[in-house]
Amino acid sequence: MSSNIQIPKTCTICGSIFIAKTTVTKNCSDVCRKRAYKQRVREQKIQDSLSEQQTTLSVTSKTVGRKPIEHQDLNDKQFMSINEISDLIGVSRWSIQRMLKRGEIPFKQFGRKKIINRQELEKLFK
Ligand SMILES: [Zn+2]
Repeated sequence: MSSNIQIPKTCTICGSIFIAKTTVTKNCSDVCRKRAYKQRVREQKIQDSLSEQQTTLSVTSKTVGRKPIEHQDLNDKQFMSINEISDLIGVSRWSIQRMLKRGEIPFKQFGRKKIINRQELEKLFK
């Protein structure tokens, strides 16, 4: 490459006009070049932390967004286990067990699992 190209340029750091020897030169001196480099690194760091924050945010909204779906699943369920009922109405499993024992909620025994028809559960609140 010929070295007689002379391109008047404005330094991106100090703003002074200088003659660039190559088309990629953006700064008038080594001092400005170093400063420009530091600036780029800093901007890159900001960019990185921004995209990191965005990732964290999207992860958070994913976690937050998942919960209503779980509840939606429970809402659609006709036959529920004690665990699911305890999740749905926010009562401990033991309280539900006791209610079943006392015959307050009709249920069907499937092996070791007690299954409650949701309609029976809803009757309690009518
Ligand atoms: Zn400069």
